[in-house]
Amino acid sequence: MSGFISILISSAHQKGVRLVLFLVTFGAMLALASWFIVEQVQQNMRQETARALTGYEQLRVNVLGTFDQMDARLVTAPCSPGFMDELRRIAFLPDGINELLYAPGGMAVCSVNSGLFTQPVDLGAAEVVTQGPHQMAFWLDRDLSFLRLEGLTASIAQRGSFALVVPTPPLPTTTPRWLEMELIVRASNGRWWHRGGQSGIYNESLEQARAGGFGLFNAAQFVMRCDSGGVHCLVGKARLPDLFALGMATIAVTLVVCAVLAAWLSQQAHGFIARHWSFETRFLRRLGPDTIECVYQPLLHLKRDRIPGCEVLARWRDIDGTLVSPDRFIPLIEKHGLTQRFTTLVADRAHKDLTQHLKPGQRVHVSFNIFPRDLQAEPLLTTFAPFLAPGGPFSLIFEIVETQEIQLETAQAEIERLRSAGVRIFIDDFGAGYSSMRNLAAVSVDGVKLDRSFAMAPNDSVLVRMLDHAIDMVSASDRIVVVEGVETQARLDALRANGKVDYVQGYLISRPLDIAGFIAFLSANGPKPTTRPRLVA
Ligand code: C2E
Ligand code: CA
Ligand code: CA
Repeated sequence: MSGFISILISSAHQKGVRLVLFLVTFGAMLALASWFIVEQVQQNMRQETARALTGYEQLRVNVLGTFDQMDARLVTAPCSPGFMDELRRIAFLPDGINELLYAPGGMAVCSVNSGLFTQPVDLGAAEVVTQGPHQMAFWLDRDLSFLRLEGLTASIAQRGSFALVVPTPPLPTTTPRWLEMELIVRASNGRWWHRGGQSGIYNESLEQARAGGFGLFNAAQFVMRCDSGGVHCLVGKARLPDLFALGMATIAVTLVVCAVLAAWLSQQAHGFIARHWSFETRFLRRLGPDTIECVYQPLLHLKRDRIPGCEVLARWRDIDGTLVSPDRFIPLIEKHGLTQRFTTLVADRAHKDLTQHLKPGQRVHVSFNIFPRDLQAEPLLTTFAPFLAPGGPFSLIFEIVETQEIQLETAQAEIERLRSAGVRIFIDDFGAGYSSMRNLAAVSVDGVKLDRSFAMAPNDSVLVRMLDHAIDMVSASDRIVVVEGVETQARLDALRANGKVDYVQGYLISRPLDIAGFIAFLSANGPKPTTRPRLVA
């Protein structure tokens, strides 16, 4: 899952994400269009088979009507002259059924065409016997010569003691070119007989139903419709390739429409993903105690060559597990007014880390970066109360950068309140941005961290010469001097030789470490437990 999300959020994969989105949407559109076309085809097929079945529906009505007439009107002695007269009258009714028989128990005794048989004719076992209140039996394709209809074969239906010869209405010839049909007669036990149309279609439909599969992907579509007695059934078959061949233009238009729609939809989806998974949205959604982590960069006391403490630097854990550096998210915190909440998260996390890992008797200076806009003693003292507990292992430092809006001079009262509560205040990134010499003299702070660009500058550069001047000035103002960004031994040696630098910080001493790494570093290079290091020059 996180691998999938990393692909979604990484800018390197956006082209691929767009392509996949397009292909998926295009596929979905095609499936939808095919489903719609197949639905239309099925509906057409249902209509066509229903139309073709009307003749059989009518035949059923006529057969049942004729049996009703026979039941009602043939009340005299079977096969008597009166009976035969009435039988003939019924046969002459204009319903297409002309040959009626008296055949109790399947033994034909007399008929309209033949009169009284010399001896009863056994019709044999019926092929189809229907269930229900009007139970009927059918003999299919009987040779009708016993009815003096030589050379003719037809079906015979029987109900009660009466039977009749069932005419076979032809299938309509006006069905569409792409539709093939087979007419069958089905018995309730599942047996069936081909009665007309293209043979084999019903079998194919049974095979396809047995094979299963999603209708959309079958090369042929089938529909089956039966008359209301369930005896005559029409099976229709349409082959998709035939349909496609007939509708090439429609298919081309469908493809173009699908592609255009898919392009638009995938663009919308990509826009949504970009918004939902943008760094900003992600960060705001997930900012909390579980995602804020701290690293600890050791601070070296130059004269004692000891590590008395560290600067706490925040990191944010992204959804794909990567650790994000503050340069990316600090601007968002400021933009969304989350500075106080964020500082609380960092303070809580650092306190938890340190109290869990510090060895008994170990003491440590912890330096936090405070947003200039949050420079109000009361809420800060509440947030950092755990670090100020009397007798605790911590000595607390706040690092504050001067900004255009917040000049430390105007915050003097708050700074004083913090100092009297036991917090040391350092001006951070001095020499860069808006920090000024004038303020250094006017504001009572404990120390000054010279911006890392000074120490990181190449030898003999203007910045390095300025570093010496800055150290002189800060030292002259009686403040603790911290130089950060020390990356080389030569620079460290020079700072040591200078004699006015109190603390240094930089990759040469150590990169920011996780809590376990920092505690190990502190144990190896820090003051011995219980001797409380004093942060003074
Ligand atoms: P900063 O306060 O100036 O912190 C020092 C930055 O310099 C850190 O970067 C640190 O990793 C880096 N650094 C230290 N030594 C060296 C070195 O020798 N060479 C180089 N090239 N870099 C070095 P990081 O951790 O990326 O922090 C960047 C900035 O983010 C910090 O600058 C600070 O302004 C801000 N920040 C970090 N954590 C917090 C926080 O908890 N609260 C606030 N308000 N700001 C924070
Ligand atoms: Ca700092
Ligand atoms: Ca700094």
